[in-house]
Amino acid sequence: MRHLYQIQTQLVTFPPPHESINPNMIAVKLIGVCGNRANARHAALIFTHHLTHPNIFAHNALLKAFAQNNEWSCTISHFNTQLTTPHAPPPDEYTFTSVIKACSGLAQEREGQKVHCFVTKYGCESNRFVRNSLVDLYFKVGDFEIAHKLFDELLVRDVVSWNTLVSGYCLSGDVDKARSVFDGMAERNLVSWSTMIAGYAKFGNLDDARKLFDEMPERNVVSWNAMIAGYAQNEKYGDAVDLFCQIQQQKGLVINAVTLVSVLPACAHLGALDLGKWIDRFIRQNKMALGLFLGNALADMYAKCGCIVDARRVFDAMQEKDVISWNIIITGLAMHGHANEAFSCFREMLEHGMMPSDITFMGLLTACTHAGMVDKGLEYFHMMDRVYGISPKIEHYGCLVDLLSRTGRLDEAEKLISSMPMKPNVIVWGALLGGCRTYKDAERGERVVQHILELQPSHSGSYVYLANIYASMGRLDDAAKCRLRMRDNEIMKTPGCSWIEVDNTVHEFFMGDLSHPLSDKIYSMIRELISKMKLAGYKPKTDLVTHNVDEEEKENALSTHSEKLAVAFGLISTSEGTTIRIVKNLRVCNDCHDAIKVISDIVRREIIVRDRSRFHHFKNGRCSCNDFW
Ligand code: ZN
Ligand code: ZN
Repeated sequence: MRHLYQIQTQLVTFPPPHESINPNMIAVKLIGVCGNRANARHAALIFTHHLTHPNIFAHNALLKAFAQNNEWSCTISHFNTQLTTPHAPPPDEYTFTSVIKACSGLAQEREGQKVHCFVTKYGCESNRFVRNSLVDLYFKVGDFEIAHKLFDELLVRDVVSWNTLVSGYCLSGDVDKARSVFDGMAERNLVSWSTMIAGYAKFGNLDDARKLFDEMPERNVVSWNAMIAGYAQNEKYGDAVDLFCQIQQQKGLVINAVTLVSVLPACAHLGALDLGKWIDRFIRQNKMALGLFLGNALADMYAKCGCIVDARRVFDAMQEKDVISWNIIITGLAMHGHANEAFSCFREMLEHGMMPSDITFMGLLTACTHAGMVDKGLEYFHMMDRVYGISPKIEHYGCLVDLLSRTGRLDEAEKLISSMPMKPNVIVWGALLGGCRTYKDAERGERVVQHILELQPSHSGSYVYLANIYASMGRLDDAAKCRLRMRDNEIMKTPGCSWIEVDNTVHEFFMGDLSHPLSDKIYSMIRELISKMKLAGYKPKTDLVTHNVDEEEKENALSTHSEKLAVAFGLISTSEGTTIRIVKNLRVCNDCHDAIKVISDIVRREIIVRDRSRFHHFKNGRCSCNDFW
């Protein structure tokens, strides 16, 4: 890029004599370089400042530079300027290819139709490239009939035309038809394969996607990206990470930003921090630009893996930030229980002139929930609508009901539910039920359970909660009846699952899991821990186990919760003093929370658990949540 600025300076200081070199020619070259270097704005500067009479090549170079860098609106507005400027050269097939691509990018049907009229007017309709772009455009805006008609009228069809058809069928949701076109193609290139893989992945058919991926005669980074993104989008995070580890070993394959953007969410979900850090180093070593997508994905990974300081470092290094970037930091701070910092980040966001979104307010409300700040929560809840015109969604109501319920304001919570403009869902009622349990309000609890079972007759959580309320009040008969009803309906709880990353591999544990190769060692570690913990005064919270079993069995059930297995595995497989990081899919239970506090003290380790709603930093027998979660 520096070299380019030098040439540009020369162009300004010593304009070439008009007869010998055409300034257009040099400008076209420079614009092309800017386009390839992802610097379309600079290309626009060269165009406006160095060309008094831009020719068609210059116009097309600029349009291409815009389109190449997804600057769709700029592409279209430059095209409109070109059309209305007196003596500007008329558009040709290259002009249209870029402009149609921009219309597809924006999925703007109206604009696309307008451009299509110009295509006809300037006689470019029979050009193959223009025609291919038009087919693609009509598929993207959902006008499949016109797309087909244009494809059928194509006189010469190349591999690009066929690829457009394959991608079009995938877009319209007819993957089988796409496959039959794909199978019938005389010639296929890498794009054909990747399109088909992405098509399968989009509709969750990962088996067929993988089969194609394995069958491909050769693969480039786009094919790998399609498969990794497919896994990540379908929540097969472990597979996404596995495939990424394979790509690292491929010689001659250059990992690009798309690859990283695809795999980072998988790292975030699994808590695979080592891999995430490797990616961060890779970005820095290769001097990759921290664009909006990559920056957001990296910051989000750090925030979700419990490294809020690193998340903030990435955020601060990003040249361009959008509302998603701010939301990542605010939500991250909230998840860590840093409520006041989340609030000040929100103020900072407003000072930067950024408009908050509904997700911003979810973050703020979550922060209030974890800190038990009811009045602040109410303030933000009302601010949404009154100041920013954002109508609260059901999630916001759920969060506020949760906040009110946790702090014992059950009446207000119930009133809020009845004032909701939408039908409350199981989560909203569930939040109130949680409050009923904590504050032993059996009467209200029964009422709430009725609402929940109306919505979802198989809702296991409500039976468990109700049974727990009865049990803790000593109404053991009612508790037993409740459990019986649950068994009659054959309700299964969502299995608790915990993940831990050791040596770049993610290990998964379910409750009572015996499948891990080191199972024996893990269980003997647990037994050892429990005897030490009991000496330290730990008592298992067996009243939470609702099964009709004796005390010893209850203790066993508790000691094999997935998070305890993961902790035990972490202890035997990492060196002394290493921080243990665990991710759990559900809320960490009271007993595990107590147990891990004690364990952190006994083994002198920091243990970080991310559960469904927040982070717990266990250290020296205490947790950062102060037992409020
Ligand atoms: Zn547990
Ligand atoms: Zn905690």
